[in-house]
Amino acid sequence: MNNDLFIQKAYINGKFVTGKNSFDVINPATQRSLGTVPDLSVSDCKKTVLVAEKAWMAWRNVPIGERCASVRRLFELINRHAGDLAEIMTKECGKPLSESLVEVDYANSFMEWFAEEGKRAYGETIPALKAGTRLTTIKQGVGVVAAITPWNFPLAMITRKIAPALVAGCTVILKPASQTPFSAIALAKLADMAGIPKGVFNVLTSKDSKGIGKELATNPIVRKISFTGSTQVGSTLMAQSATTVKRISMELGGNAPFIVFDDADLEKAVQGAIAGKFRNAGQTCVAVNRFYVQEGIYKEFAKRLTQEVQKLKVGDGMKKNVQVGPLINKAGLEKVQEHVDDAVQKGAALATGGKSLHGLFFQPTVLTHVPHHALIATEETFGPVCALFPFKTEEEAIRLANDTPFGLAAYFYSNNIFRCQRVAEQIESGMVGVNAGMVSNASAPFGGVKQSGIGREGSTYGLEEYLEVKYICYGE
Ligand code: ADP
Repeated sequence: MNNDLFIQKAYINGKFVTGKNSFDVINPATQRSLGTVPDLSVSDCKKTVLVAEKAWMAWRNVPIGERCASVRRLFELINRHAGDLAEIMTKECGKPLSESLVEVDYANSFMEWFAEEGKRAYGETIPALKAGTRLTTIKQGVGVVAAITPWNFPLAMITRKIAPALVAGCTVILKPASQTPFSAIALAKLADMAGIPKGVFNVLTSKDSKGIGKELATNPIVRKISFTGSTQVGSTLMAQSATTVKRISMELGGNAPFIVFDDADLEKAVQGAIAGKFRNAGQTCVAVNRFYVQEGIYKEFAKRLTQEVQKLKVGDGMKKNVQVGPLINKAGLEKVQEHVDDAVQKGAALATGGKSLHGLFFQPTVLTHVPHHALIATEETFGPVCALFPFKTEEEAIRLANDTPFGLAAYFYSNNIFRCQRVAEQIESGMVGVNAGMVSNASAPFGGVKQSGIGREGSTYGLEEYLEVKYICYGE
């Protein structure tokens, strides 16, 4: 790839390094190797933790204004290299180039936001109840942070962890998903150019996710783990990090409902459905998984949605006008097919799509009258499939929406202000889109309830995740 940011090395202690072994990264659109990266070991990980600890001793004492200025410089550099970053992203994860450009922008919005918000890590002065003492608090970075990130947003899932960590005075060891390490390494190159000191941000590439995850979670020097990925791996990391009582942030799986009430604006609901479902071929944790549509509007909504879905152009994300790329790998493709076949076998009707195309591509699909015991009703599909379920009453819709162990994002459409307030308050999820199919942005708190996670990213809450409150009592 003729791209200055495409580097086939890990980045540790300010240097681009190779390892004894390496592994291939596959472009899911062509299923050919894009290049290789070092397959670093648990012992490399242990050394990196020491590097990050040493760097922390200095970084935490760099004035906050300077730390924020470094992150701001990184923001400017990402802006300047958006095209290169987007190309790498599309080639390693498959999303259309236009979407990759949007992700680079979104990813970078966390750099901009936290370069400002970092300056507002205020402490307090607390009135003392008795004479003789003065009570204050200050906020300090938690220390060495381990970040483990998934492949579906190869840049944004990283920036919303490292931007607040860096301004808070923490140092970071990032283990990117083995499917998409090149975006992370490209970010390291830009961090290097931005003058972020050596050891402050490290990118450790490895195929041994389990071994590296366990080392990071159990190493006492690491003070915090921030993870985005599946609930299963998240709960393993929580259990492992309990042994050293770490701070944790967990952004885990979702199973987002999308409710369309009879009183909704049909066109807006259809547009919201397309936006909420087909981004990254449905491979996002906030992607709609279950469409609940009220009886009076059901037929019309199904018809309009099917028409729009049939217009979507599937193909290699590097080609012009492509809207839906491939799935990340064979296992992902098989899961989507399994969910569709299971729903049809249990009685759902196929309105459009339903089959895999060549390679890792799957037809954008609409299933109607899906039974509630179908797999797709309870498990995250992570693919370009809309499953429609009819419902009668508001109470029923809320019950169905909440009937899941997950609670990340939820969406609903209605033009009745009182219903909007009631439903938004009763839905069990960390984020609710009311007449909105996309909700995430840097200034708002992103995160889940129930088994969708712990903690928030973005916004001032996202900064708190990397800060400890220290109480200082002055005697006289
Ligand atoms: P996804 O379905 O998005 O791949 P995973 O939870 O499997 O979700 O992966 C998210 C991230 O967690 C990736 O970086 C992956 O390499 C890493 N990972 C996978 N298994 C483990 C594990 N046992 N411990 C730590 N990290 C892991």
